[in-house]
Amino acid sequence: MRTTQLYAPTLRETPAEAEVVSQKLMLRAGMIRKAAGGIYTYLPLAWRTLKKIEQIIREEMDEAGGQEISMPIVQPSELWKETGRWAVYGEEMFRLKDRHDREFCLGPTHEEMVTSLVRDEVRSYKQLPLMLYQIQNKYRDEIRPRFGLMRGREFIMQDLYSFDKDEAGLNVSYQKMYDAYSRIFTRCGLQFRPVEADNGAIGGGHSHEFTVLADAGESNIVYCTACDYAASDEKAELKPVEAAAEEMQPLETIATPGMKTIELVAESLHVPFEKTIKAVAFQNEKDEVVLAFVRGDHDVNEVKLQNLTGALTLRMADDAAIQAVGGVPGFMSPIGIKKGTQIVVDATVMGMYNAVAGANAMDAHYKNVNPKRDFIEVTAADIRLIKDGDPCPHCGAPVKMTRGIEAGQVFTLGTKYTEALHATFLDENGKEKPLVMGCYGIGVSRTMAAAIEQNNDEQGIIWPRAIAPFEVVVVPVNAKVPEQLALAETIYAALKGAGVDVLLDDRKERAGVKFKDADLIGYPVRITVGPKAVEENIIEVRTRRTGNTQNFTPDDYLDEVLALLKTL
Ligand SMILES: [Zn+2]
Repeated sequence: MRTTQLYAPTLRETPAEAEVVSQKLMLRAGMIRKAAGGIYTYLPLAWRTLKKIEQIIREEMDEAGGQEISMPIVQPSELWKETGRWAVYGEEMFRLKDRHDREFCLGPTHEEMVTSLVRDEVRSYKQLPLMLYQIQNKYRDEIRPRFGLMRGREFIMQDLYSFDKDEAGLNVSYQKMYDAYSRIFTRCGLQFRPVEADNGAIGGGHSHEFTVLADAGESNIVYCTACDYAASDEKAELKPVEAAAEEMQPLETIATPGMKTIELVAESLHVPFEKTIKAVAFQNEKDEVVLAFVRGDHDVNEVKLQNLTGALTLRMADDAAIQAVGGVPGFMSPIGIKKGTQIVVDATVMGMYNAVAGANAMDAHYKNVNPKRDFIEVTAADIRLIKDGDPCPHCGAPVKMTRGIEAGQVFTLGTKYTEALHATFLDENGKEKPLVMGCYGIGVSRTMAAAIEQNNDEQGIIWPRAIAPFEVVVVPVNAKVPEQLALAETIYAALKGAGVDVLLDDRKERAGVKFKDADLIGYPVRITVGPKAVEENIIEVRTRRTGNTQNFTPDDYLDEVLALLKTL
């Protein structure tokens, strides 16, 4: 491909609409253009990258036993009504009607569609396991589409659905997909972690998110510095911190005028945080009060608290609600709270001795609180949010926190959809059973954006070679000089002949413009053919990621470039 034939309108200025780096760089590099909020056109450079990501996915899916199909984007409402999701999906679903007033949606996902496909055809255990996948556009009418391709309303996804005869089979399929997804992200050249995910909403079984590490990521994840444990912060389990045993002292009330936060109390009483108990009051969707207590230096993990208490939602409680259960806002402990109130105390707190906690009286705290002795009718559980340096739940080594972008997810679904849609088969004994299902997805356009979020600098994108729109750009410094252009053409042809995905920047632009564009678009290798090439037989090979340049002659560069590409 030659740049004079490539439609890649680059921009010098960053468009005002861009919120995140990937969106900014893709707009500037002439890769995408916005059509409407969260809906984009992919220009040739983006399309090349997307096709490369898809090719890697296809190879790994086929290798793992998947079969590619294409299901309709336009889906009839009847299927969704069978599973009850037509009603619960809400505003996020793009809905439409045909000329006969029949209702349809633009597929946000395809569990209903694929299950209806197999229920009519799969009859026997002999047809299992079955893994079907597709790569196509998905639609979600996000309330506020943001961050370019990271949270779009139309996006490209690969989704695979596995059908097995039992749980054991499902676990095999799940592991195959887990391994395939790991290989896909590795082959794409991305730093990622499969993390244990909370799947409260989908329910049942287990789930892992494949998170591409990037500072701009929306998810917080923790990973162990010693073993391979990784989890979202919401999911990460914690063992209680053991406090050194002490003799329990008698409870004492102390005046703490105006000290409504645990920080103020700890500071003015010269008590370490490890000796203080913090209260956080919530109200659930039924307006019931849920009181949570953690150590002064810890935070409440609201997802854990929600799962534990069965609340659908939790919000901060208002003062009137706290007072109604006998609590005094700012001076609260479980001691003196009305019977029947939901009180959840973190397991670490239960092991504390002679701590400071609120006295449920204005401007007063208790000294020598011993939860084992003083807290009655409370639920003790792990409700704390993991933080940097906490012990790994698997091996005890300190964990680190990082941010990431969720680019893929694997789920075990069990029989949720197959029961609702009556997708059954006959087992070895001729007994009718529902198919056991798993679902697996990669955001393809999101992976492209995540790759940029992870790999960029001041000048632009730094593509991992495997998914770069072109692996090498050959730049004649002055394309008006026939000798330079001729040599560049020769190098271009040789690289092409060697199977390299190469672009020749044959524009009659200034060298500075061509170099800037090459850095902005982020081709892994740039080969410069300038006056030195013609006069001294020297061509320059520059690596985008490191900025390193090496000089070669037109006779010896080829093997060197091929070897270099293997490392990028
Ligand atoms: Zn560990």
